[in-house]
Amino acid sequence: MTTPASPQKILSASVDRLREVGPQRADLLRQMGLFTIRDLLFYFPRDWQTFAPLIHLGDLEEGVDAGVRASVVEVDRQGSNQQTGRSITGVLFREHGTYLRAVWFNMPFLAEQFSPGEAYYLEGTPKRRGQTWEMIHPRTKRLESLEEDLPRPIHPLYRLPEGFGQHLFRKIVTAALEDYVGVLDEVFPEDFLESHTLMPLREALPALHFPDDLEQLQHARRRFVFQELFIMQLALAVRRFGQQATLTAPQLPATTKIHARIMRRWPFELTGSQTRAIEQLAQDMARPIPMNRLLQGDVGSGKTVVALYAMLLAVAHGYQAILMAPTEVLARQHWHTIEKLLFGSRVRRTMLSGGMPSKQRKEKLAEIAAGDWDIIVGTQALLQQDVTFDKLGLVVIDEQHKFGVKQRAQLRGEEVSPHYLVMTATPIPRTVGMTLFGDLEVSVLDELPPGRPPVHTYWVTPSQTDRWWKFFRQKIESGRQGYVIAPLVESSEAMEAASVEVLQETLANGPLQGLRLATMHGRLSIEEKTSIMDAFSRGETQVLISTSVVEVGVDVPNATLMAIESGERFGLAALHQLRGRISRGNYPGYCGIFADPKTASGKQRIEAFVDTTDGFRLAELDFELRGPGNVFGTRQHGLPPLRIANLQQDERVLEEARQKACDLVSQDQLKQPEFRKLRRMVWQRYGSVLDLGDVG
Ligand code: ADP
Ligand code: MG
Repeated sequence: MTTPASPQKILSASVDRLREVGPQRADLLRQMGLFTIRDLLFYFPRDWQTFAPLIHLGDLEEGVDAGVRASVVEVDRQGSNQQTGRSITGVLFREHGTYLRAVWFNMPFLAEQFSPGEAYYLEGTPKRRGQTWEMIHPRTKRLESLEEDLPRPIHPLYRLPEGFGQHLFRKIVTAALEDYVGVLDEVFPEDFLESHTLMPLREALPALHFPDDLEQLQHARRRFVFQELFIMQLALAVRRFGQQATLTAPQLPATTKIHARIMRRWPFELTGSQTRAIEQLAQDMARPIPMNRLLQGDVGSGKTVVALYAMLLAVAHGYQAILMAPTEVLARQHWHTIEKLLFGSRVRRTMLSGGMPSKQRKEKLAEIAAGDWDIIVGTQALLQQDVTFDKLGLVVIDEQHKFGVKQRAQLRGEEVSPHYLVMTATPIPRTVGMTLFGDLEVSVLDELPPGRPPVHTYWVTPSQTDRWWKFFRQKIESGRQGYVIAPLVESSEAMEAASVEVLQETLANGPLQGLRLATMHGRLSIEEKTSIMDAFSRGETQVLISTSVVEVGVDVPNATLMAIESGERFGLAALHQLRGRISRGNYPGYCGIFADPKTASGKQRIEAFVDTTDGFRLAELDFELRGPGNVFGTRQHGLPPLRIANLQQDERVLEEARQKACDLVSQDQLKQPEFRKLRRMVWQRYGSVLDLGDVG
């Protein structure tokens, strides 16, 4: 024996060290991103090949996969079919008085394999054929006798590159487990494992790769799912509670006087959920630690009003408030809403625009730094650059989901600790909320202000196209305005622009001839976009032909018509956002969607869009149909991808992990020595992503 090495060291050794692995295989493994022994051991199967339940032939059911034991009665070789050229091999089996014919196409050599009287295990999907059952291409295994007890192992299936067989990879994993399982270091204290019914690591890892049965597999998988989600939730909790412990923010209570003064501003009654959200954020802002709240509400639910309350609260205490939007047009939109509501107010407010000449910009920045402005609206890009504030009390961020977790962390790096309010109109499924926004408190606006007229949605079939455009045109001529949304083009802004131009040509020379049309796409400059939007707001333009990516969130109450081209290319959430543009005014909205979905789920998506206007239900459905990765990819938001947990499937575990993580961190227990390893894993995986600061 050489000197004993630490488990860390042993497991960090190169894959070359593994049995069954020579230089060539080691290279293959490295190409898969598996460099160390630990990488290999923790390369989880993507799926498991399981066996159907073992039953008697007499108990088969049409179409229900099953495994049976039966003996060969006769083999018939039917030669090849004249028309199809396919050869057919049939083998008749029997168990007690029931018969089953196994059928293979184009495998004539199989006929040699079976002899009458031999016992076999067969697995497949049974079909009734008169008195007998039939299985096409069943799995078979020769048995000693019909009574033979057959172990049917569950085989792991790995994500492997071309040419790397499952069998070989299993062999490597088997050897690695044999040699190294004893070295694995448990992350959780023993009593923690027990109280959470988690399988210990040294048992769980082999059981995950090569489970004895489904129950064991589930148990083992649960351990790793829990661990993965728990570590993520710990990181989020550390950010949430850790910050609260160290940062101080100005206390900005809503005194009776201030509250009354702000409330006098609204020309309408607040909805119940607006009132609730305001109460919640006022409580947060009264405390000497930074508010960290997510305001979630469907398009038109009145988020800007709630945000304005928070801003006025800050201003009332002599602090500055900023509102950041992801795009210039959205920033302008907020600006208009705020201007309307602050008409006649002495609050000093300004918009920092991207198109501003640099001299003017410099002056504006100096004024902001001197405290001459109370409320500042602008894009995220603008307000994160070289802007300094005199007394920043509140930061409102709109459409945070586009920014990602990382940026949120960056903003935090400042010395000042303002309160934060994040807004999103994207209904976020609960599980996603618990991950992407796991470090935020949440307020939900789940009702729309009263009196909003409905939006009617139609799936326009080819035969109804003429009728739709006639209807569209008639509404425009009666004074309304409308949007036509061009197909989603992902490749480039140039292509996007081209697709909008083509659409405009077609419409201008066809159904919308003679109307005042304008086009908008991502290739235009900020000034161009702004002036196009302004012309549309003033009603000079009747129909705006645009890409979807340019501006969700635009508020033109007179625009009540929308046509969406190639609707099958959009996700449900995106469609819903788009439709939200035409539910802003006093007239009912009409949305026509053109779509040619190629899949069943694509069709379901369009149908759901036509059937419901409840954004939350649509988001949940989108999540179900497309999977969370496609709707809210964790990666695109800056969180590392999940390796084993599945947010849909593992919602319960996620909740448990979240609860436990909050408890541990809020009670300051994570610092205890028994959680040292866990802590290290949290920092390794999330430390830099979430800016967790020093190793805790
Ligand atoms: P969101 O930002 O959630 O899409 P906004 O705050 O922009 O919604 O509000 C949409 C429109 O509804 C605005 O014109 C706003 O003035 C109006 N509004 C907001 N709250 C109410 C309310 N409680 N009653 C009537 N109208 C409201
Ligand atoms: Mg808004």
